[in-house]
Amino acid sequence: MTRKEAAPLPEFDGRALINGQRVSALSGHTFDCISPVDGRLLTRVARCAEADVDAAVGAARSAFEDCRWRGLAPLQRKRIMLRFADLLQAHGDELALTETLDMGKPIKYARALDVNSAANCIRWYGEAADKVYDEIAPTPATALALITREPMGVVGVIVPWNYPMIMAAWKIAPALVVGNSVVLKPSEKSPLTALRMAELALEAGIPPGVFSVVTGYGPEAGSPLALHMDVDCIAFTGSTRVGKQIHVMAGQSNIKRAWTELGGKSPNIVFADCPDLDKAVEAAVGSIFFNQGESCNAPSRLFVEAAIKDRFLQKALALVPAYAPGNPLDPATIMGAIVDQTQMNSVLRHIECGHKEGARLLCGGEQALRESGGFYVQPTVFDGVRNDMTIAREEIFGPVLSVLSFTDAAEVVRQANESVYGLQAAVWTRDINKAHGVARALRAGTVHVNQYDEDDITVPFGGFKQSGVGRDKSLHAMDKYTETKTTWIRIDSPV
Ligand code: NAD
Repeated sequence: MTRKEAAPLPEFDGRALINGQRVSALSGHTFDCISPVDGRLLTRVARCAEADVDAAVGAARSAFEDCRWRGLAPLQRKRIMLRFADLLQAHGDELALTETLDMGKPIKYARALDVNSAANCIRWYGEAADKVYDEIAPTPATALALITREPMGVVGVIVPWNYPMIMAAWKIAPALVVGNSVVLKPSEKSPLTALRMAELALEAGIPPGVFSVVTGYGPEAGSPLALHMDVDCIAFTGSTRVGKQIHVMAGQSNIKRAWTELGGKSPNIVFADCPDLDKAVEAAVGSIFFNQGESCNAPSRLFVEAAIKDRFLQKALALVPAYAPGNPLDPATIMGAIVDQTQMNSVLRHIECGHKEGARLLCGGEQALRESGGFYVQPTVFDGVRNDMTIAREEIFGPVLSVLSFTDAAEVVRQANESVYGLQAAVWTRDINKAHGVARALRAGTVHVNQYDEDDITVPFGGFKQSGVGRDKSLHAMDKYTETKTTWIRIDSPV
Protein backbone atom coordinates (compact mmCIF):
# COMPACT_ATOMS: atom_id res chain seq x y z
CA MET A 1 0.00 0.00 0.00
CA THR A 2 1.47 3.36 -1.00
CA ARG A 3 -0.06 6.78 -0.94
CA LYS A 4 0.08 7.02 -4.74
CA GLU A 5 -2.39 4.14 -5.10
CA ALA A 6 -4.94 5.83 -2.83
CA ALA A 7 -8.43 6.62 -4.16
CA PRO A 8 -9.68 10.23 -4.23
CA LEU A 9 -11.07 11.41 -0.91
CA PRO A 10 -14.72 12.33 -0.26
CA GLU A 11 -15.34 15.97 0.63
CA PHE A 12 -15.77 16.65 4.34
CA ASP A 13 -17.30 19.70 6.02
CA GLY A 14 -15.14 20.51 9.05
CA ARG A 15 -17.23 23.37 10.38
CA ALA A 16 -18.77 23.13 13.84
CA LEU A 17 -22.52 22.69 14.26
CA ILE A 18 -23.95 25.25 16.66
CA ASN A 19 -27.62 26.10 17.13
CA GLY A 20 -28.60 24.09 14.06
CA GLN A 21 -26.09 25.79 11.73
CA ARG A 22 -22.74 24.77 10.28
CA VAL A 23 -20.36 27.53 11.36
CA SER A 24 -16.66 28.34 11.31
CA ALA A 25 -14.92 29.08 14.60
CA LEU A 26 -15.49 32.73 15.56
CA SER A 27 -11.72 33.25 15.37
CA GLY A 28 -11.71 31.79 11.84
CA HIS A 29 -9.00 29.34 12.97
CA THR A 30 -8.89 25.72 11.80
CA PHE A 31 -6.73 22.67 12.41
CA ASP A 32 -5.71 19.95 9.97
CA CYS A 33 -7.56 16.67 10.11
CA ILE A 34 -5.04 14.08 8.93
CA SER A 35 -5.95 10.52 7.99
CA PRO A 36 -3.84 7.90 9.81
CA VAL A 37 -4.50 5.54 6.89
CA ASP A 38 -1.96 7.31 4.66
CA GLY A 39 -1.17 10.69 6.23
CA ARG A 40 -3.35 12.66 3.79
CA LEU A 41 -5.20 15.83 4.76
CA LEU A 42 -8.91 15.02 5.01
CA THR A 43 -10.13 18.55 5.67
CA ARG A 44 -9.59 21.57 7.89
CA VAL A 45 -11.74 21.59 11.01
CA ALA A 46 -13.07 24.55 13.01
CA ARG A 47 -10.73 25.27 15.92
CA CYS A 48 -13.35 26.31 18.44
CA ALA A 49 -12.50 28.12 21.65
CA GLU A 50 -14.27 29.74 24.58
CA ALA A 51 -16.45 32.10 22.48
CA ASP A 52 -17.74 29.22 20.34
CA VAL A 53 -18.44 27.13 23.44
CA ASP A 54 -20.34 30.11 24.91
CA ALA A 55 -22.46 30.30 21.76
CA ALA A 56 -23.25 26.58 21.85
CA VAL A 57 -24.04 26.62 25.58
CA GLY A 58 -26.19 29.74 25.14
CA ALA A 59 -28.20 28.05 22.39
CA ALA A 60 -28.51 24.90 24.50
CA ARG A 61 -29.76 26.93 27.47
CA SER A 62 -32.36 28.77 25.36
CA ALA A 63 -33.58 25.48 23.94
CA PHE A 64 -33.89 24.08 27.44
CA GLU A 65 -35.71 27.12 28.83
CA ASP A 66 -38.26 27.39 26.01
CA CYS A 67 -39.02 23.65 26.33
CA ARG A 68 -38.76 22.98 22.57
CA TRP A 69 -37.39 19.53 23.35
CA ARG A 70 -38.01 18.69 27.00
CA GLY A 71 -41.60 19.94 26.60
CA LEU A 72 -42.40 17.27 24.02
CA ALA A 73 -44.34 14.24 25.19
CA PRO A 74 -41.99 11.29 25.81
CA LEU A 75 -43.67 9.48 22.92
CA GLN A 76 -42.71 12.34 20.57
CA ARG A 77 -39.11 12.35 21.79
CA LYS A 78 -39.07 8.60 21.30
CA ARG A 79 -40.22 8.87 17.69
CA ILE A 80 -37.54 11.44 16.90
CA MET A 81 -34.80 9.37 18.54
CA LEU A 82 -35.88 6.32 16.56
CA ARG A 83 -35.78 8.37 13.35
CA PHE A 84 -32.28 9.54 14.34
CA ALA A 85 -31.19 5.91 14.77
CA ASP A 86 -32.72 4.99 11.39
CA LEU A 87 -30.85 7.84 9.70
CA LEU A 88 -27.56 6.66 11.20
CA GLN A 89 -28.21 3.23 9.72
CA ALA A 90 -29.27 4.68 6.38
CA HIS A 91 -25.99 6.63 6.20
CA GLY A 92 -24.02 3.68 7.56
CA ASP A 93 -21.65 3.28 4.62
CA GLU A 94 -20.79 6.97 4.57
CA LEU A 95 -20.29 7.11 8.35
CA ALA A 96 -18.15 3.97 8.35
CA LEU A 97 -15.93 5.31 5.57
CA THR A 98 -15.56 8.62 7.42
CA GLU A 99 -14.66 6.85 10.68
CA THR A 100 -12.08 4.65 8.97
CA LEU A 101 -10.42 7.53 7.14
CA ASP A 102 -10.48 9.71 10.26
CA MET A 103 -9.19 7.29 12.90
CA GLY A 104 -7.79 4.29 11.04
CA LYS A 105 -9.98 1.40 12.19
CA PRO A 106 -10.78 -1.37 9.68
CA ILE A 107 -13.80 -0.52 7.54
CA LYS A 108 -15.23 -3.95 8.29
CA TYR A 109 -15.60 -3.08 11.98
CA ALA A 110 -16.48 0.59 11.43
CA ARG A 111 -19.57 -0.56 9.50
CA ALA A 112 -20.55 -3.69 11.44
CA LEU A 113 -19.70 -2.49 14.93
CA ASP A 114 -19.36 1.28 15.26
CA VAL A 115 -22.30 2.38 13.11
CA ASN A 116 -24.59 -0.41 14.29
CA SER A 117 -23.76 -0.01 17.99
CA ALA A 118 -24.20 3.76 17.89
CA ALA A 119 -27.56 3.43 16.12
CA ASN A 120 -28.64 0.65 18.46
CA CYS A 121 -27.76 2.76 21.49
CA ILE A 122 -29.79 5.73 20.23
CA ARG A 123 -32.71 3.40 19.45
CA TRP A 124 -32.54 1.64 22.82
CA TYR A 125 -32.68 4.86 24.84
CA GLY A 126 -35.30 6.25 22.45
CA GLU A 127 -37.46 3.21 23.21
CA ALA A 128 -37.00 3.85 26.94
CA ALA A 129 -38.43 7.39 26.65
CA ASP A 130 -42.00 6.33 27.40
CA LYS A 131 -41.27 3.24 29.46
CA VAL A 132 -39.49 4.49 32.56
CA TYR A 133 -41.80 5.49 35.41
CA ASP A 134 -41.19 7.75 38.37
CA GLU A 135 -42.05 6.81 41.98
CA ILE A 136 -44.51 7.49 44.76
CA ALA A 137 -43.05 7.01 48.24
CA PRO A 138 -44.80 4.80 50.83
CA THR A 139 -45.67 7.72 53.14
CA PRO A 140 -48.59 8.03 55.63
CA ALA A 141 -51.96 8.85 54.03
CA THR A 142 -51.81 12.48 55.17
CA ALA A 143 -49.44 13.33 52.38
CA LEU A 144 -48.30 12.23 48.97
CA ALA A 145 -44.60 12.25 48.12
CA LEU A 146 -43.77 12.15 44.41
CA ILE A 147 -40.21 11.25 43.50
CA THR A 148 -39.62 12.48 39.97
CA ARG A 149 -36.58 12.63 37.75
CA GLU A 150 -36.05 15.84 35.86
CA PRO A 151 -33.57 16.72 33.13
CA MET A 152 -30.54 18.60 34.42
CA GLY A 153 -30.42 21.30 31.77
CA VAL A 154 -27.28 21.66 29.65
CA VAL A 155 -25.03 18.61 29.45
CA GLY A 156 -21.47 18.94 28.15
CA VAL A 157 -20.03 15.78 26.60
CA ILE A 158 -16.32 15.25 25.85
CA VAL A 159 -15.25 12.03 24.11
CA PRO A 160 -12.07 10.33 22.86
CA TRP A 161 -11.11 9.05 19.42
CA ASN A 162 -11.08 5.25 19.75
CA TYR A 163 -14.81 4.64 19.14
CA PRO A 164 -15.94 8.16 18.24
CA MET A 165 -19.57 7.41 17.36
CA ILE A 166 -20.16 4.83 20.09
CA MET A 167 -18.60 6.90 22.87
CA ALA A 168 -20.72 9.87 21.81
CA ALA A 169 -23.91 7.77 21.54
CA TRP A 170 -23.44 6.26 25.03
CA LYS A 171 -23.73 9.77 26.46
CA ILE A 172 -25.88 11.82 24.11
CA ALA A 173 -28.63 9.18 23.88
CA PRO A 174 -29.54 8.97 27.61
CA ALA A 175 -28.89 12.71 28.06
CA LEU A 176 -31.17 13.71 25.17
CA VAL A 177 -33.93 11.21 25.79
CA VAL A 178 -34.71 12.61 29.24
CA GLY A 179 -34.98 16.15 27.81
CA ASN A 180 -31.56 17.77 28.26
CA SER A 181 -29.72 19.93 25.73
CA VAL A 182 -26.27 18.61 24.80
CA VAL A 183 -23.02 20.23 23.65
CA LEU A 184 -20.60 17.58 22.37
CA LYS A 185 -16.86 18.07 21.97
CA PRO A 186 -15.38 15.20 19.97
CA SER A 187 -11.67 14.43 20.00
CA GLU A 188 -9.56 16.65 17.75
CA LYS A 189 -8.17 13.38 16.35
CA SER A 190 -11.56 12.14 15.07
CA PRO A 191 -14.08 15.00 14.80
CA LEU A 192 -15.87 14.16 11.55
CA THR A 193 -18.53 11.58 12.41
CA ALA A 194 -19.77 13.62 15.40
CA LEU A 195 -20.53 16.49 13.02
CA ARG A 196 -22.50 14.20 10.72
CA MET A 197 -24.34 12.69 13.69
CA ALA A 198 -25.51 16.17 14.73
CA GLU A 199 -26.68 16.91 11.17
CA LEU A 200 -28.65 13.68 11.09
CA ALA A 201 -30.14 14.46 14.52
CA LEU A 202 -31.44 17.76 13.10
CA GLU A 203 -32.82 15.96 10.07
CA ALA A 204 -34.58 13.51 12.40
CA GLY A 205 -36.34 16.41 14.16
CA ILE A 206 -34.21 17.20 17.21
CA PRO A 207 -34.74 20.98 17.35
CA PRO A 208 -31.85 23.41 16.65
CA GLY A 209 -29.81 24.26 19.73
CA VAL A 210 -30.64 21.00 21.50
CA PHE A 211 -27.60 19.14 20.18
CA SER A 212 -24.54 21.15 19.11
CA VAL A 213 -21.00 20.00 18.30
CA VAL A 214 -17.95 22.17 19.02
CA THR A 215 -14.73 20.88 17.48
CA GLY A 216 -11.25 21.71 18.72
CA TYR A 217 -8.43 20.90 21.10
CA GLY A 218 -9.02 19.81 24.68
CA PRO A 219 -7.55 22.81 26.51
CA GLU A 220 -9.16 25.28 24.05
CA ALA A 221 -12.66 23.84 23.54
CA GLY A 222 -12.96 21.09 26.19
CA SER A 223 -11.87 23.11 29.23
CA PRO A 224 -14.31 26.00 28.60
CA LEU A 225 -17.10 23.43 28.49
CA ALA A 226 -16.00 21.74 31.73
CA LEU A 227 -15.51 25.14 33.42
CA HIS A 228 -18.70 26.73 32.08
CA MET A 229 -20.97 28.21 34.74
CA ASP A 230 -24.08 27.45 32.69
CA VAL A 231 -23.32 23.77 32.02
CA ASP A 232 -25.08 21.59 34.59
CA CYS A 233 -23.32 18.30 33.95
CA ILE A 234 -20.13 17.19 32.22
CA ALA A 235 -19.84 13.63 30.92
CA PHE A 236 -16.30 12.71 29.93
CA THR A 237 -14.63 9.68 28.39
CA GLY A 238 -10.87 9.76 27.98
CA SER A 239 -7.62 9.37 29.87
CA THR A 240 -7.35 9.27 33.64
CA ARG A 241 -4.95 12.24 33.45
CA VAL A 242 -7.55 14.51 31.84
CA GLY A 243 -10.41 12.91 33.82
CA LYS A 244 -8.81 14.16 37.04
CA GLN A 245 -8.74 17.68 35.59
CA ILE A 246 -12.43 17.39 34.65
CA HIS A 247 -13.37 16.74 38.29
CA VAL A 248 -11.24 19.71 39.37
CA MET A 249 -12.86 21.97 36.74
CA ALA A 250 -16.34 20.85 37.84
CA GLY A 251 -15.49 21.75 41.44
CA GLN A 252 -13.75 24.99 40.48
CA SER A 253 -16.79 26.26 38.60
CA ASN A 254 -20.38 25.46 39.56
CA ILE A 255 -20.08 21.95 41.07
CA LYS A 256 -21.58 20.62 37.87
CA ARG A 257 -22.21 16.90 37.99
CA ALA A 258 -19.10 15.18 36.60
CA TRP A 259 -19.05 11.64 35.20
CA THR A 260 -15.84 10.09 33.94
CA GLU A 261 -15.10 6.91 31.99
CA LEU A 262 -11.32 6.58 32.07
CA GLY A 263 -8.42 4.26 31.37
CA GLY A 264 -7.81 0.60 32.07
CA LYS A 265 -5.10 -2.04 32.38
CA SER A 266 -7.37 -5.05 32.51
CA PRO A 267 -6.07 -8.39 33.85
CA ASN A 268 -7.01 -11.58 32.02
CA ILE A 269 -6.37 -14.59 34.29
CA VAL A 270 -6.12 -18.07 32.74
CA PHE A 271 -5.96 -21.01 35.14
CA ALA A 272 -4.56 -24.39 34.08
CA ASP A 273 -8.08 -25.86 34.36
CA CYS A 274 -9.43 -23.46 31.74
CA PRO A 275 -12.36 -25.28 30.05
CA ASP A 276 -11.38 -24.39 26.47
CA LEU A 277 -7.78 -23.36 25.94
CA ASP A 278 -8.23 -22.51 22.24
CA LYS A 279 -11.10 -20.18 23.05
CA ALA A 280 -9.05 -18.53 25.81
CA VAL A 281 -6.13 -18.04 23.41
CA GLU A 282 -8.38 -16.56 20.72
CA ALA A 283 -9.97 -14.19 23.22
CA ALA A 284 -6.61 -13.12 24.68
CA VAL A 285 -5.12 -12.37 21.26
CA GLY A 286 -8.27 -11.09 19.56
CA SER A 287 -9.25 -8.73 22.37
CA ILE A 288 -5.85 -7.05 22.76
CA PHE A 289 -5.37 -6.52 19.02
CA PHE A 290 -8.98 -5.53 18.24
CA ASN A 291 -9.21 -1.83 17.29
CA GLN A 292 -5.36 -1.78 17.16
CA GLY A 293 -5.32 -2.21 20.95
CA GLU A 294 -7.00 1.18 21.29
CA SER A 295 -9.73 -0.05 23.63
CA CYS A 296 -10.05 1.07 27.25
CA ASN A 297 -11.12 -2.45 28.23
CA ALA A 298 -8.42 -4.33 26.26
CA PRO A 299 -7.08 -7.22 28.39
CA SER A 300 -3.51 -5.91 28.26
CA ARG A 301 -2.16 -7.89 31.23
CA LEU A 302 -2.39 -11.62 30.54
CA PHE A 303 -1.75 -13.82 33.60
CA VAL A 304 -1.28 -17.49 32.62
CA GLU A 305 -0.80 -20.27 35.19
CA ALA A 306 2.79 -21.47 34.90
CA ALA A 307 1.82 -25.11 34.13
CA ILE A 308 0.19 -24.16 30.80
CA LYS A 309 2.08 -21.02 29.87
CA ASP A 310 4.35 -22.50 27.18
CA ARG A 311 1.46 -24.27 25.46
CA PHE A 312 -0.69 -21.15 25.69
CA LEU A 313 1.99 -18.93 24.19
CA GLN A 314 2.71 -21.37 21.36
CA LYS A 315 -0.95 -21.28 20.36
CA ALA A 316 -1.14 -17.49 20.80
CA LEU A 317 1.90 -16.80 18.63
CA ALA A 318 0.40 -18.94 15.86
CA LEU A 319 -2.58 -16.54 15.73
CA VAL A 320 -0.59 -13.29 15.70
CA PRO A 321 0.30 -13.15 11.96
CA ALA A 322 -3.42 -12.84 11.13
CA TYR A 323 -3.29 -9.44 12.86
CA ALA A 324 -0.56 -8.00 10.66
CA PRO A 325 -1.66 -4.41 9.94
CA GLY A 326 -3.23 -3.76 6.55
CA ASN A 327 -5.02 -1.02 4.65
CA PRO A 328 -8.08 -0.22 6.82
CA LEU A 329 -10.14 0.38 3.67
CA ASP A 330 -9.63 -3.23 2.56
CA PRO A 331 -12.64 -5.23 3.82
CA ALA A 332 -10.32 -8.15 4.68
CA THR A 333 -8.18 -6.10 7.09
CA ILE A 334 -8.67 -6.78 10.79
CA MET A 335 -5.90 -4.55 12.18
CA GLY A 336 -5.74 -0.99 10.92
CA ALA A 337 -3.78 2.20 11.62
CA ILE A 338 -2.96 3.86 14.95
CA VAL A 339 -4.92 7.11 15.24
CA ASP A 340 -2.00 9.49 14.68
CA GLN A 341 1.76 9.85 14.77
CA THR A 342 1.80 11.04 18.39
CA GLN A 343 -0.08 7.95 19.57
CA MET A 344 2.09 5.66 17.40
CA ASN A 345 5.25 7.17 18.89
CA SER A 346 3.83 6.72 22.39
CA VAL A 347 3.17 3.02 21.68
CA LEU A 348 6.71 2.58 20.27
CA ARG A 349 8.16 4.32 23.35
CA HIS A 350 6.34 1.85 25.61
CA ILE A 351 7.74 -1.05 23.57
CA GLU A 352 11.24 0.40 23.99
CA CYS A 353 10.58 0.65 27.71
CA GLY A 354 9.57 -3.04 27.80
CA HIS A 355 12.96 -3.95 26.28
CA LYS A 356 14.88 -1.73 28.68
CA GLU A 357 13.13 -3.09 31.77
CA GLY A 358 13.96 -6.69 30.80
CA ALA A 359 10.74 -8.10 29.28
CA ARG A 360 11.28 -10.65 26.47
CA LEU A 361 9.91 -9.65 23.06
CA LEU A 362 8.21 -12.65 21.43
CA CYS A 363 6.95 -10.91 18.28
CA GLY A 364 6.39 -7.51 16.68
CA GLY A 365 7.78 -4.42 18.32
CA GLU A 366 8.21 -2.28 15.20
CA GLN A 367 6.42 0.31 13.12
CA ALA A 368 4.80 -1.27 10.04
CA LEU A 369 3.74 -0.18 6.53
CA ARG A 370 5.96 2.93 6.57
CA GLU A 371 5.62 3.28 2.79
CA SER A 372 1.89 4.00 3.22
CA GLY A 373 2.54 7.38 4.83
CA GLY A 374 0.20 6.26 7.64
CA PHE A 375 0.80 5.09 11.22
CA TYR A 376 0.95 1.36 11.88
CA VAL A 377 2.47 -0.83 14.60
CA GLN A 378 3.07 -4.58 14.45
CA PRO A 379 1.10 -6.73 16.91
CA THR A 380 3.51 -7.13 19.81
CA VAL A 381 3.80 -9.71 22.60
CA PHE A 382 6.14 -9.49 25.60
CA ASP A 383 6.78 -12.45 27.90
CA GLY A 384 8.53 -12.40 31.26
CA VAL A 385 6.71 -9.25 32.31
CA ARG A 386 6.58 -8.30 36.00
CA ASN A 387 3.65 -6.38 37.40
CA ASP A 388 5.90 -3.50 38.43
CA MET A 389 7.23 -2.91 34.90
CA THR A 390 6.02 0.16 33.03
CA ILE A 391 4.34 -1.96 30.34
CA ALA A 392 2.28 -3.71 33.04
CA ARG A 393 1.38 -0.51 34.88
CA GLU A 394 0.69 2.08 32.19
CA GLU A 395 -2.11 2.02 29.67
CA ILE A 396 -0.33 1.72 26.30
CA PHE A 397 -3.45 2.00 24.12
CA GLY A 398 -1.83 0.09 21.28
CA PRO A 399 -1.37 -3.53 20.10
CA VAL A 400 0.94 -4.65 22.92
CA LEU A 401 0.27 -7.69 25.12
CA SER A 402 2.17 -8.19 28.38
CA VAL A 403 2.33 -11.82 29.56
CA LEU A 404 2.88 -12.68 33.24
CA SER A 405 2.75 -16.09 34.90
CA PHE A 406 1.51 -17.27 38.30
CA THR A 407 1.18 -20.37 40.43
CA ASP A 408 -1.22 -19.35 43.17
CA ALA A 409 -4.82 -18.00 42.98
CA ALA A 410 -4.52 -15.59 45.91
CA GLU A 411 -1.27 -14.22 44.55
CA VAL A 412 -2.65 -13.63 41.04
CA VAL A 413 -5.71 -11.84 42.42
CA ARG A 414 -3.42 -9.61 44.49
CA GLN A 415 -1.35 -8.76 41.40
CA ALA A 416 -4.41 -8.28 39.19
CA ASN A 417 -5.79 -5.76 41.68
CA GLU A 418 -2.42 -4.05 42.04
CA SER A 419 -3.25 -1.32 39.53
CA VAL A 420 -4.63 2.18 39.72
CA TYR A 421 -7.26 1.04 37.23
CA GLY A 422 -10.29 -1.22 37.69
CA LEU A 423 -12.22 -1.25 34.44
CA GLN A 424 -12.53 -4.92 33.44
CA ALA A 425 -11.04 -8.33 34.22
CA ALA A 426 -11.45 -11.94 33.19
CA VAL A 427 -11.00 -15.35 34.75
CA TRP A 428 -10.85 -18.68 32.92
CA THR A 429 -11.43 -21.87 34.93
CA ARG A 430 -13.80 -24.85 34.92
CA ASP A 431 -14.08 -24.70 38.73
CA ILE A 432 -17.27 -22.77 39.59
CA ASN A 433 -16.07 -22.00 43.10
CA LYS A 434 -12.77 -20.60 41.88
CA ALA A 435 -14.52 -18.63 39.10
CA HIS A 436 -16.96 -17.06 41.51
CA GLY A 437 -14.41 -16.45 44.26
CA VAL A 438 -11.93 -14.79 41.92
CA ALA A 439 -14.64 -12.76 40.14
CA ARG A 440 -15.81 -11.47 43.53
CA ALA A 441 -12.27 -10.58 44.60
CA LEU A 442 -11.37 -8.69 41.42
CA ARG A 443 -11.78 -4.92 41.78
CA ALA A 444 -13.28 -4.14 38.38
CA GLY A 445 -16.52 -2.76 36.95
CA THR A 446 -16.97 -5.83 34.73
CA VAL A 447 -15.60 -9.34 35.20
CA HIS A 448 -15.81 -11.92 32.42
CA VAL A 449 -15.85 -15.64 33.18
CA ASN A 450 -14.64 -17.99 30.43
CA GLN A 451 -15.14 -15.38 27.70
CA TYR A 452 -14.18 -11.79 26.93
CA ASP A 453 -16.57 -10.81 24.12
CA GLU A 454 -19.99 -10.38 25.63
CA ASP A 455 -21.27 -6.84 25.53
CA ASP A 456 -24.73 -5.36 25.43
CA ILE A 457 -26.41 -1.99 25.76
CA THR A 458 -28.48 -3.47 28.63
CA VAL A 459 -25.51 -3.72 31.04
CA PRO A 460 -23.63 -0.91 32.81
CA PHE A 461 -20.09 -0.10 31.63
CA GLY A 462 -17.51 1.70 33.75
CA GLY A 463 -14.82 1.19 36.29
CA PHE A 464 -13.65 1.02 39.89
CA LYS A 465 -10.80 3.16 41.21
CA GLN A 466 -9.13 5.52 38.70
CA SER A 467 -11.07 4.02 35.80
CA GLY A 468 -13.70 6.64 36.51
CA VAL A 469 -16.91 7.67 38.19
CA GLY A 470 -20.36 6.54 37.03
CA ARG A 471 -21.56 4.05 34.43
CA ASP A 472 -22.47 4.34 30.75
CA LYS A 473 -25.13 2.14 29.08
CA SER A 474 -28.22 0.47 30.60
CA LEU A 475 -31.04 2.31 32.35
CA HIS A 476 -28.56 3.25 35.12
CA ALA A 477 -26.99 5.80 32.75
CA MET A 478 -30.23 7.81 32.68
CA ASP A 479 -29.71 8.62 36.37
CA LYS A 480 -26.55 10.54 35.45
CA TYR A 481 -28.51 13.04 33.39
CA THR A 482 -31.45 13.63 35.73
CA GLU A 483 -31.92 15.32 39.09
CA THR A 484 -34.14 13.58 41.62
CA LYS A 485 -36.93 15.80 42.97
CA THR A 486 -39.27 15.11 45.88
CA THR A 487 -42.66 16.88 45.84
CA TRP A 488 -44.70 16.68 49.05
CA ILE A 489 -48.43 17.18 48.61
CA ARG A 490 -50.54 17.57 51.75
CA ILE A 491 -53.72 15.48 51.78
CA ASP A 492 -56.10 17.26 54.17
CA SER A 493 -59.05 14.97 54.44
CA PRO A 494 -58.31 11.38 53.77
CA VAL A 495 -61.58 9.54 53.20
P1 NAD B 1 -7.70 12.22 26.28
O1 NAD B 1 -7.98 12.26 27.73
O2 NAD B 1 -6.40 12.72 25.79
O3 NAD B 1 -8.81 13.05 25.47
C1 NAD B 1 -10.18 12.76 25.61
C2 NAD B 1 -10.97 14.00 25.27
O4 NAD B 1 -10.66 15.01 26.21
C3 NAD B 1 -10.65 14.60 23.90
O5 NAD B 1 -11.82 15.10 23.31
C4 NAD B 1 -9.71 15.74 24.24
O6 NAD B 1 -9.72 16.79 23.30
C5 NAD B 1 -10.29 16.20 25.56
N1 NAD B 1 -9.35 16.94 26.41
C6 NAD B 1 -8.00 16.84 26.45
N2 NAD B 1 -7.50 17.73 27.33
C7 NAD B 1 -8.56 18.38 27.88
C8 NAD B 1 -8.68 19.42 28.84
N3 NAD B 1 -7.62 19.95 29.44
N4 NAD B 1 -9.93 19.84 29.16
C9 NAD B 1 -11.03 19.31 28.59
N5 NAD B 1 -10.96 18.34 27.63
C10 NAD B 1 -9.74 17.88 27.30
O7 NAD B 1 -7.95 10.71 25.84
P2 NAD B 1 -7.81 10.08 24.40
O8 NAD B 1 -6.36 9.90 24.10
O9 NAD B 1 -8.65 10.83 23.44
O10 NAD B 1 -8.53 8.66 24.60
C11 NAD B 1 -7.89 7.58 25.13
C12 NAD B 1 -8.29 7.37 26.57
O11 NAD B 1 -9.71 7.21 26.67
C13 NAD B 1 -7.71 6.13 27.15
O12 NAD B 1 -7.19 6.40 28.42
C14 NAD B 1 -8.90 5.18 27.25
O13 NAD B 1 -8.77 4.19 28.22
C15 NAD B 1 -10.00 6.12 27.53
N6 NAD B 1 -11.30 5.51 27.22
C16 NAD B 1 -12.09 5.09 28.25
C17 NAD B 1 -13.32 4.47 28.00
C18 NAD B 1 -14.21 3.99 29.12
O14 NAD B 1 -15.39 3.77 28.87
N7 NAD B 1 -13.70 3.81 30.33
C19 NAD B 1 -13.72 4.28 26.68
C20 NAD B 1 -12.90 4.73 25.65
C21 NAD B 1 -11.69 5.34 25.93
